[in-house]
Amino acid sequence: MLDLIYEAPAPKVIQGAKDDWELVIGLEVHAQVASRAKLFSGASTEFGAEPNSNVAFVDAGMPGMLPVINEGCVALAVKTGLGLKAAINLASAFDRKNYFYPDQPAGYQISQLYHPIVGEGEVIVDMAPGIARRVRIERIHLEQDAGKSIHDMDPQMSFVDLNRAGVALMEIVSRPDIRGPEEAAAYILKLRQIMRYLGTCNGDMQNGNLRADVNVSVCRPGAYEKYQETGDFSHLGTRCEIKNMNSTRFIQQAIEVEARRQIAIIEDGGEVVQETRLFDVDKGETRSMRSKEEAHDYRYFPDPDLLPLEIEQGWVDDIAATLPELPDEKKARFVTEYGMTEYDAGVLTAEVENAAFFERVAQVSGDGKTSANWVINELFGRLKKEDHSISESPVSAEQLGKIVALIKAGDISGKIAKDLFEIVYTEGGDPAVIVDDRGMKQVTDTRAIEAAVDEVIAANPAQVEKAKANPKLAGWFVGQVMKATGGKANPAAVNQIVQQKLGL
Ligand code: ADP
Ligand code: MG
Repeated sequence: MLDLIYEAPAPKVIQGAKDDWELVIGLEVHAQVASRAKLFSGASTEFGAEPNSNVAFVDAGMPGMLPVINEGCVALAVKTGLGLKAAINLASAFDRKNYFYPDQPAGYQISQLYHPIVGEGEVIVDMAPGIARRVRIERIHLEQDAGKSIHDMDPQMSFVDLNRAGVALMEIVSRPDIRGPEEAAAYILKLRQIMRYLGTCNGDMQNGNLRADVNVSVCRPGAYEKYQETGDFSHLGTRCEIKNMNSTRFIQQAIEVEARRQIAIIEDGGEVVQETRLFDVDKGETRSMRSKEEAHDYRYFPDPDLLPLEIEQGWVDDIAATLPELPDEKKARFVTEYGMTEYDAGVLTAEVENAAFFERVAQVSGDGKTSANWVINELFGRLKKEDHSISESPVSAEQLGKIVALIKAGDISGKIAKDLFEIVYTEGGDPAVIVDDRGMKQVTDTRAIEAAVDEVIAANPAQVEKAKANPKLAGWFVGQVMKATGGKANPAAVNQIVQQKLGL
């Protein structure tokens, strides 16, 4: 698996255009730092609080208030950087990005333009078993979020909620290494997965925890390779940036329609103009928000209220020592340790809680492969039907582990195990005790099976003649005996005895 990991799929070629075109995409992902306090104040970051209840004076831009850096946020940004195998910059600094907006009362956003805290890293984006693309990370910087303007509560007035103002964001900037809509979605999901493993961002896209600005350009086949060889962006097409997307589905749609728009312009003899655009979900189109000429001049300068941010290598090493096993490593280990397919390992490691649950099941049952099947097919299938997460599972890892152990010991058949699972799921209880109490144990006692086989044979002389002529029909007898024993007979033993009694 690992030696194939950089073999990327062919770049997306746009159908329906006159010529062949390829897509080039770079993402700027804003990830909310999983901190309970804001980046420069002690105000809470709790989601859904009463408007304007989590606002410190500094968040409200009150004159004379000074920002104080939250060490916890810095540690989480460093941890994210380490998780993306990125360079950590021991010296970084905060800059003011000046622009007026009602939900940003200070008149500027504190960000890190010139000296970000994290430098170059990478994300391996899995596209199919054994096939992945390496997307380079250019940088991660820390910055403040803005507040929220509310325009739809009153016909005359707009409202401002500053609860989000000053919340810490990590802006994760990728190189333009993403080559199609599916890859863009897979990239965000992989970032989200890594940060959830690290505990540095909750990744709740619906609540705006994770949002992306999507840069899209198109080029002729071969141009991207030239850019990669030389690092010269002029080989690439002019890009447009689609702002503030928080759904992977809409991101994919937006990339498709934006690429088509650009291709139509170029094939018509026109030129793509670099600009910021918005995706209109209802109309399924992107439209201009502001062109390059209208772009803000942010007048960045180092924030005089904050000292340069200097951290020590020893502190970074301490954080590195707390890194958990990350998704790629866990997935590779599941494949080798439990002998499961890469696909199954991907399913089980998608969420760190699922992986932990599975490992506990495997530990209790002593059979990783069968445990994987049961967790994925029975448990996940059932939870999904009822829209439950793993933490809400009525069956604990211990209970499922015991069910699998009973199968492994030959005490119950796979079929009975499904009934047992259903009982444990709906009623709870100790699987071994249920099996005893309800007489669900598999019959391996050959004398009991022989008696059942004799009965079926005696009752069906015509079938016996047919089976003697055509041994394939012996299966019918096995089915009858299984039925007669309520599915509790050991199928292998039944089969053997049937063959023997019929003289096959
Ligand atoms: P800016 O600060 O003006 O937004 P950046 O250099 O930070 O510019 O780039 C922003 C994003 O645009 C990055 O993710 C980068 O990978 C991406 N990008 C740059 N050039 C292109 C291009 N030609 N096509 C698609 N994406 C691009
Ligand atoms: Mg940008």
